[in-house]
Amino acid sequence: MGFVLTANDYMNYIELAAKKIRENSDYITSLDAATGDGDHWVNINMGFEKLLEESEEIRSVPIDKAFYKIGTLMMKSIGGSSGILYGGAYMAAAKALKGEETLNCARMCEALDAMLADMMQRGKAQPGFKTMIDALHPAVSSYKKALEEGLDEAKTMQLVKQAALSGAEKTKEMQAVKGRASYQGNKGVGHLDPGAVTMSYQIECLCDYICAQNL
Ligand code: ADP
Ligand code: MG
Repeated sequence: MGFVLTANDYMNYIELAAKKIRENSDYITSLDAATGDGDHWVNINMGFEKLLEESEEIRSVPIDKAFYKIGTLMMKSIGGSSGILYGGAYMAAAKALKGEETLNCARMCEALDAMLADMMQRGKAQPGFKTMIDALHPAVSSYKKALEEGLDEAKTMQLVKQAALSGAEKTKEMQAVKGRASYQGNKGVGHLDPGAVTMSYQIECLCDYICAQNL
């Protein structure tokens, strides 16, 4: 059988991610103060608050339309680089999901893969550049590998979550190549990248939400 997520379910996950982000305001702000201009939490939190405001509309449409709506809202409401990157990524995922009512395990992987490809192309960043890509890329790689190996969905979600969290952790020793952190003398070495941490929170909440369904 496997999991099936409607837009209503996906919005339940967004609520969890919004809470996780809201609760970590001081921590994320301190990370961006060390490596960037200190506004990453304000930017990303604004985007999630906007999604909560528009939640009813998002819940009521097929998943492809919900992703498109999320993309346009994020593009408009999140400032900085993250707004363009997340907005573009959700719109690209909407395109990949065109005509689909719901997400299942394979389509979830396709959506994340489309997000990753769009973010990498739009921001011209590769894995290892100390950005949000360093949480998303390992998550997508382990997702694809788990599907190829035919692992069960609960195990797949655990591996995806672990890959995102350890990917974010690894940004500590990386030197920033893109974004504001790259303008600094030490290029952020010794500090986690805030965008990688907030990306890992979202993937963590998504995997936990999926695991909490009857798999
Ligand atoms: P800004 O850098 O414009 O102030 P934010 O503070 O909201 O925007 O976001 C900063 C985060 O954006 C960084 O921590 C990094 O993860 C991510 N980022 C910046 N530039 C890029 C890029 N070119 N590609 C991917 N991610 C990027
Ligand atoms: Mg910033």
